[in-house]
This record gives sequence, C-alpha cells and structure tokens, in this order.
Amino acid sequence: MNAAHATGEVSGHVESMLKEVGEILERVTDPEIPVLTIADLGILRDVRWNGGGIQVIITPTYSGCPAMQTIEQDVRAALNRNGYTDVEVKTQLAPPWTTDWMSAAGREKLLQYGIVPPAGSSAKQSLRVPVRGLTCPRCRSADTEEISRFGSTPCKALYRCNACLEPFDYFKCI
Ligand SMILES: [Zn+2]
Repeated sequence: MNAAHATGEVSGHVESMLKEVGEILERVTDPEIPVLTIADLGILRDVRWNGGGIQVIITPTYSGCPAMQTIEQDVRAALNRNGYTDVEVKTQLAPPWTTDWMSAAGREKLLQYGIVPPAGSSAKQSLRVPVRGLTCPRCRSADTEEISRFGSTPCKALYRCNACLEPFDYFKCI
C-alpha cells in the first residue's frame, strides 16, 4: 500500500489506469492450464501504482513453480502490448497461495477441461493425497484411484476412473 493509497489521494487518472491494467491482466492465462486465467487461479494478487510505473504482485501456487517465469513474461508482454512499459512484477511468497484463492468460476472451468479441482482447503491443511472417492470428470463415478502422485506437472496427480477406465488429472497442492 503506497502513500497515495493510504491518504486516499489517488488521482482519477491513476485509478482508471489501474482498472484498465487489472482488466488486461485478468485475461492473462496460465501457461500450463490455458483455460484458466491467473486471476482464476488466484496467482494475480494485486496491481499498484508505484509512483512511476505499474507494480504487479503475483504469488506462485507453490514455491519454485516452473511456470512463474513464463507468467511473469506473459504479464509484462500483455501490459507492453497495451502501452504500459514501466512494469515491475513482484513475486510474493507470503502469505502462501492456498486453494481457497481459486475462484468458483476457475474450479468449474478446470473441471470442464477434465482436471478435477482441489478438494478441501490447503490453508486448513485438509488436502491429503491420495484423495479417496474423487469424482471422475467424464462419467461422474466416485470409483477412482491414484495412479501417480505426479502427473503432467508437479501440481497435478494422475488418477484413473475404474468405471470408464479413463485417466484424469487432479489439481493438488504441494
Ligand atoms: Zn469415469
């Protein structure tokens, strides 16, 4: 929170600029799950005016997530394309990301994409793998089992449905 925010003296210009920047960034998608935006995932934390340029705060879903570098580049590129050249992207690790930050719309899009969204809340540490009785995204059977703790990326585990025999990804928290 900068001084201008604290004193409530943010000019209308800065305010409308930050609104536009927010709208641009809400369309930046996750490099690993292209149906989700970084806003859906809760990776996009804040957009601020630092007095001379735009400061974007992002939080990785887990520390060391390899996609963060790409996300940072995508954030910069999206803003540059829209004429914002003075951009600082700051990675914030505390507080750590939790599955609670994933939007309801994001969870639904994830399921439509064939990836089961996280069950429970990582903030409350109720996420345990393997998860029993995950619902198959294709046939909705709960007769499913974990095949591999790590799926196509470290934040996904591979499950199989025993009813339709199709494998599917589960978005877990590390
Ligand atoms: Zn199934």
